Amino acid sequence: MSKKRSIETTCIQGGWQPGNGEPRQVPIYQSTTFKYSTSEAMGKLFDLEAEGYFYTRLQNPTNDAVAAKICEMEGGAAAMLTSSGQAANFFAIINICSAGDHVISSATIYGGTSNLLTVTLKRFGIETTLVDPDLPEEELAKEFRPNTKCVFAETIANPALVVLDIEKFAHLAHSHGVPLIVDNTFATPVNCRPFEWGADIVTHSTTKYMDGHGMTVGGCIVDSGNFDWDAHKEKFPGLTTPDESYHGIIYTQRFGKGAFITKATAQLMRDLGCIQSPQNAFLLNAGLESLHLRVPRHCENALKVAEYLSSREDVAWVKYPGLPGDKYHDLAQKYMPKGTCGVISFGLKGGRAAASVFMDKLKLASIATHVADAKTCVLHPASHTHRQLNDEQLVEAGVDPSMIRFSVGIENADDIIEDIRQALED
Ligand SMILES: *Cc1c(COP(=O)(O)O)cnc(C)c1O
Repeated sequence: MSKKRSIETTCIQGGWQPGNGEPRQVPIYQSTTFKYSTSEAMGKLFDLEAEGYFYTRLQNPTNDAVAAKICEMEGGAAAMLTSSGQAANFFAIINICSAGDHVISSATIYGGTSNLLTVTLKRFGIETTLVDPDLPEEELAKEFRPNTKCVFAETIANPALVVLDIEKFAHLAHSHGVPLIVDNTFATPVNCRPFEWGADIVTHSTTKYMDGHGMTVGGCIVDSGNFDWDAHKEKFPGLTTPDESYHGIIYTQRFGKGAFITKATAQLMRDLGCIQSPQNAFLLNAGLESLHLRVPRHCENALKVAEYLSSREDVAWVKYPGLPGDKYHDLAQKYMPKGTCGVISFGLKGGRAAASVFMDKLKLASIATHVADAKTCVLHPASHTHRQLNDEQLVEAGVDPSMIRFSVGIENADDIIEDIRQALED
């Protein structure tokens, strides 16, 4: 399989490679189990001595075909689907972190991931330091501890729309002997391929642009295969020393560039589940086939909407990294010259009260706890996801009380703008 073909072709042709007389579209392997003719053949699967399927809690051929497509889109070495984006980030982190370990994460990340790190993983004995991603590398380096095992960040942060300086973060992580994990949900590999800038592991909430139609919750982990676990053996014993639950195999020795994903499948899926259903993987694949067409339209529409909002007197501020003059425009130009994403945030001069009135008057855009969808949708974090906080607490949490998160869809841009105009004026 050529790694050089363009992302557009990979969106369509990647993954499922049918043989003579086999279905052209990836089939849904709606089966929990797989049949073998000898006891020994199945035994070898349990010892990881042979490749194959035995139980869909660990692996399923539909999922693997779709994961292989995303793997090729990202330019990775191995990939797996998970039941959600949350599960993808959870697995990517606990595959290398245990109780007593430490994570450095950008503070501007998705709220769910922030809770995962600072509340739930803390209960498991994994501590996280949240850092301002815009700090110079020397400042960020001060947060490393002997037990730090990875650095985590998002290419374009949801909902802060901070663009990550991936090269700075990769250098920071590598100079301390740990991998950089990047959540690439908002940019998608159509706009940015973090491995090309030094990231080691990429995660996705496939629920967003990859599915694109609000049909399925899902996630994906892709490993570049580039991080040398054996060079930092003492930090990553789970990958570099014998796994007693598989008769003492050593993942890096046996699986090379596939070590990280094989361990996450063999151990974490075995013990925790969290696999994506093959039905959902099939629907995700249908979304991926048009991703390369949808993403540029999202970006084109979002830029028009951002420009329109910026031109209005009643709009106090607009954040969109694709907008010239935005704080992150230069970084966006460097890492994603084709475009950023379809999500914009802005505030009205009337603040929180005006935001509610505006949203209630929208006709085309729907109020929904969702982003990165074909359909334009809108959310007011202060009234929804961060509802429990007062204005002072909101500012502390980095959420402006007036912030409206506007996810621009792929309808006609003029119609979206007209919807905004009538909601502000009529
Ligand atoms: C939505 C989202 C997640 C969580 O994904 P789910 O599929 O909802 O579990 C993680 N990271 C980012 C950047 C997201 O936008």
